[in-house]
This record gives sequence, C-alpha cells and structure tokens, in this order.
Amino acid sequence: MDIQLYNTLSKTKETFKPLKVGIVSMYHCGPTVYDTPHIGNYRTFVMNDVVRRVFEYNSYQVIQAMNVTDVDDKTIRRSREEGISLNALTRKYEKLFMEGITSLNILTPHHLIRATEHIPSMIELIQTLLDKKIAYTTSDGVYMSIEKVKDYGALAHLKKTDISKERIANDEYDKSNPHDFALWKFTTSDDVDNSWEAPFGKGRPGWHIECSAMAMKVLGETIDIHTGGNDLIFPHHTNEIAQSESATGKTFAHYWMHGAFMNVEEEKMAKSKGNFIKLESLHDQMISPIAYRYWLLTAHYRSPVNFTYAAVQAAQSALIRLMGILANFPENGVAIPFYTERFNAFINDDLDTPKAIALIWDLIKDNRRSDADKRATIADFDRVLGLNLSSIPHLVDEPTPPEIQALAEAREEARKNKEWDKADALRAEIEARGYTVLDSEKGFTVVRH
Ligand code: AMP
Ligand code: ZN
Repeated sequence: MDIQLYNTLSKTKETFKPLKVGIVSMYHCGPTVYDTPHIGNYRTFVMNDVVRRVFEYNSYQVIQAMNVTDVDDKTIRRSREEGISLNALTRKYEKLFMEGITSLNILTPHHLIRATEHIPSMIELIQTLLDKKIAYTTSDGVYMSIEKVKDYGALAHLKKTDISKERIANDEYDKSNPHDFALWKFTTSDDVDNSWEAPFGKGRPGWHIECSAMAMKVLGETIDIHTGGNDLIFPHHTNEIAQSESATGKTFAHYWMHGAFMNVEEEKMAKSKGNFIKLESLHDQMISPIAYRYWLLTAHYRSPVNFTYAAVQAAQSALIRLMGILANFPENGVAIPFYTERFNAFINDDLDTPKAIALIWDLIKDNRRSDADKRATIADFDRVLGLNLSSIPHLVDEPTPPEIQALAEAREEARKNKEWDKADALRAEIEARGYTVLDSEKGFTVVRH
C-alpha cells in the first residue's frame, strides 16, 4: 500500500518513493540539551516516532537518526549560569530528555548522535564550503554566503527579498549579520573550554552545520525524510539544505515533514511567556505520559493543538476506559483484516492518527466481531500508536481446568513428601500444557501463560 506524505518542499501530499527499495532513512532534529524539554517539544518527538512506526508497519526497514545538540549558545550560556562544565550540563539534560522519551513510549532512534562527538565531520564540511568559495572567513567566524546558494529559501517558500526580514526575526545567532549565517564561531576569551582546533581557526560549530554534517555522516549524502517542528523550516532546515547541497551538489532530503506547534491558551509555548509545561507537571495532575500521547494522536500532526489540562484529562479517561474494556477481552483472537486494512489506509494517508483512533472505538462497538479478535486487532494497531494496548494484563479469572488442578495438587503432595524429582516432573508437565504454578506461603496458584 502506498504511503502519502505531505512534503513542505512541494506543499502537497506526495506518494513516498524510497531511495532504496524497502528501506527508509530518516533524520530528526533532536533536542538542545540545556533544560528539560517541555511537552510541546515532545509533540514533535512523538510525531517522529509515529513516522518510524508507520514505515515499520508497512514492513520497511527504518534507519532513524536523531541528533543531540550538546554545544551551542544556549548550552554554553546555561553551563556558565549553573557553574558546571558543558559536558556535565548536557549529559544531565540528555538523561532527563531520554527519560521522557521512554515514558512516552517513543522508540529510541537507531543513531542518537551528539554534536560534540562529530566535530571532525563538521570541520570537513565547512572546509569543503570554503574550498568552493561558498563560505568565507571574517574576524569572528566562518560564514555561509547565501547569495551563492541556488534556490535559497525554497523550503520556506520565501522570496530572496523576504529573507533578511525573516532572518532578523528568527535567527538567534546571527542578528548582527542579517544576510549570512555562521558555520563556525571562533573562540572568544570566555569560551576557551568549549572550542576545537580547525584548519580555519579554533572555535565551535554553528547549530545548522551540526545537523547537515551528522545527517550526511550517518545516513549518507541524500536521505529519504527529514523532520522537525514548524519553527525549524526557517532558518534551520533552509540552512541545512544550503550547506549540504552546496557541498555535495546532490539533493539533501527528498521529503521534509514538519509538525505543527502545541500552544497553551492559544499562545506558542515559550519560556518568555512563562507558559512552559513539562511532563512533571502532568504527573502532578495525575496524567500519565501515555495519556498525553493518546491525546496528541487524536489530533493530526499538521494541525496546531491547544493544550488544556481538561482536554488531556478527558483523553486519559477515554484511554482508561479502553484499557478496562480490553482487559476483559480474551487473548486468543486474530487481527481482523477488514479493520487492519482500514487502519493501514488511514496511517498511510499522511499519518491520519485521529481517524486511526476513531477506528478503535468503531471496532469496540462492532457487535459482529468477537471480543478476542477485537483485542488482537487493537494490539496490531498499537504497533503504530504505541499506547501499550498490547500488553494489558488479562483480568478475566478463568477457572483452572480440572486436569491441570489435579496435576498441581499432585505436585504439592510430592513437595510435602520431599519427592523433589516427582514434583519437578509434574511442574514440567503443567508448563507444557500452558500453565504455571506460583508458590507462596499460603499455598499455590495456577496461572495461564
Ligand atoms: P529544541 O530542543 O528547542 O531544539 O526543540 C526540539 C524540537 O521541538 C524541535 O523540532 C522544535 O521544532 C520542537 N518544538 C519546540 N516547541 C514546540 C511546540 N510548542 N510544539 C511542538 N513542537 C515544538
Ligand atoms: Zn537540525
């Protein structure tokens, strides 16, 4: 079945065509590890995870890479404020970031790459751009000349005249250089600890070059899919394209996917507005990360969403209800093709998770289907949704079949008589028939496995 993806480059949904049959390479812009991420950041990381899972559901081999920005202006500034080394600071926040990733059931990318561990690739890329005279050196760093870049701004659909205006508004780094952007910043007196030797002068990389160099190093000069939040279209992804394509002369990424923002009270979640919400705050309100994930999936990734506790609490109630229903369904069913095909069509239509979630509830209400098959079908959907719906303990207390009960009692008798070999043989017999005996001080219990 074809996979349709909305490509920011063409502003249309396109049928996905991989570079190599059956394989998809994807790069996601990762966190800047100077603080714990807010739940808006995690919206984008959940989207990335769903992209991966959709391809796996469609039997693709996925090669997924995500960077960790562990050196830039923000990380350096924060390490000074906290009075600790850059390394100590970034490792601390990377760990917290990964705890959030695990709690949201986001699969760990195959390549999780730290900027500080790929400085040589960045230096090499900058040197290529210097050799090609697309980059130039000033007193404070190496800059990229956007005038020399063909189609600069195409991803953002910006005309050259709009670019300076946009750059001044957006780019934190280069406000004093509105036309060009920094590839490398030479060491300043207060920054000696965080700098690396390079043929063009000691210093540290700019944020944009980190992603270009790491993506190409790990995945190759052309990749299938590149993703991030909407705010990264300009300047970050625009600059990644400029750097990579100027250096290689090849297309950098075929599909550019961008997730819409999560707002709070209709405003962008931003530190300056003081409306930052973290996973911890959800925890304090007794909202589980998985319920947050469920809520995220009820909206399409390209639609902005407005966070309210009430909305996420309502999603949590729905999820708890669903888990309760599934826990009472037997486990021996099979996935229903009529439903898995519809599910596949929804997720392949540019990740239509809201329709996929609605389909769960349609299936629950469908009284022509057995409970066991419903359970198996929803467990199959969960390969993409990642809501732990396939591992809900089965709550129905089934009576133990009399022959198993008899074997268990015989084993108990053997144990009392210290006939250990006989007891072990009986246990093996019980196991072979699909049951396990659990011993406790009060006696034994038999459970199905
Ligand atoms: P950062 O750690 O700031 O580099 O951001 C990590 C990711 O989170 C990027 O892909 C951003 O585009 C994304 N992001 C930041 N704020 C939000 C938000 N409010 N909603 C959705 N994604 C966001
Ligand atoms: Zn990036």
